[in-house]
Amino acid sequence: MKPYSLHSILFFLLFVPLLSIAQSSDPILIQAVRLFDGESVKDNMDVFFENGKVVRIVPHSPEHKANQVIDGRGKTLIPGLINAHVHIWFPMHLQEAARAGVLTVMDMHSSSYSIPILKAFQDSTHYASYLSAGPGATVPGGHGTQFGMPTPTIDSTKSAKSFTLDRVEGGSDYIKILREPSRPTINFSQIDTVIATAHENDKLAVAHISRKKDAIQLASSDLDGFVHIWFDQVSTAEEIDTIAKGEQFMVPTIITNKRVLDYFKTQGRTASSLNFEELKAEVQKLHEAGITLVAGTDPPNFNINYGTDLLTEIELFVECGLSPLEALRTATGNAAKSFRLKEAGRLKEKGPANAVLIQGNPLEDIKAIRNIEKVWKNGQLVK
Ligand SMILES: [Zn+2]
Repeated sequence: MKPYSLHSILFFLLFVPLLSIAQSSDPILIQAVRLFDGESVKDNMDVFFENGKVVRIVPHSPEHKANQVIDGRGKTLIPGLINAHVHIWFPMHLQEAARAGVLTVMDMHSSSYSIPILKAFQDSTHYASYLSAGPGATVPGGHGTQFGMPTPTIDSTKSAKSFTLDRVEGGSDYIKILREPSRPTINFSQIDTVIATAHENDKLAVAHISRKKDAIQLASSDLDGFVHIWFDQVSTAEEIDTIAKGEQFMVPTIITNKRVLDYFKTQGRTASSLNFEELKAEVQKLHEAGITLVAGTDPPNFNINYGTDLLTEIELFVECGLSPLEALRTATGNAAKSFRLKEAGRLKEKGPANAVLIQGNPLEDIKAIRNIEKVWKNGQLVK
């Protein structure tokens, strides 16, 4: 028996009876609301939910009726948000996310044992849906091996190919690569094998980086996305151009860098990395070069939470020069497109009724995203 199987069984016995599975609901009409569907905005719309789905999105009419009518005037309806960089071990963190309107979380390195446990909450109303890379691709002593959980390593216990096949077999939704030269790190030939094996098995491959030169090198590989921005050096226009040609998406995790820099400040130390203004300028350059930006926050690192800190990341994108509309896309449509998610991050007819009702207009003032009035998952109110 594997050491974790008993643990997993206990977990199921403890939590599964508590799962509240979405049930069919009365038709709900959110009336005369401003709708951001993950891509674009329409004013004065009537949105109908029924049996957990969005059944109709039409221009407002006073004739429209439903059992439950919610006045949407002065409010904005947006899709359930996606956090594209988290690390989660406990179901309570899925709850913390859902309460803040974050209905999809994407784990970027954890244990394979938690995948089935956390995925069991997929249809539970008060929990975010969980997607996971499982353990990231690393080498003995490399980044990811220091957290005290069993971590398979390439070329010690596994070849790059068999490591990746194990992830596919173990239920990983995408493959994470940990390129971190402050420790022993995976080399580019191993990375190419991981990417090729991921693609042969219809999985995306994304990479942790911290150095600009690794971003430049990996831009010419078949990698699909970066899940951190570099923070060692300012880039030139030529380098940004090279990176943009790779067409990888970028989850910069701006808040993570901010927390590190804030921590250094409290210690009276200067970080040997970009300062926060320089870092934001790097994100702005990527945006101006047409690189798709995606929101992610990397909790629980640096005490980042699983819920409202994603709203901070969206606000930080505005500080990096994105419009509020572009910033909202980073946690909805951009994340969905980048990770090829079929239903998350969008509000459309026949799609799930996963939505957040906000008092005010975040498209004018992004700070309004904090005024969350209601969150629905599959048409059920999250509490
Ligand atoms: Zn991380």
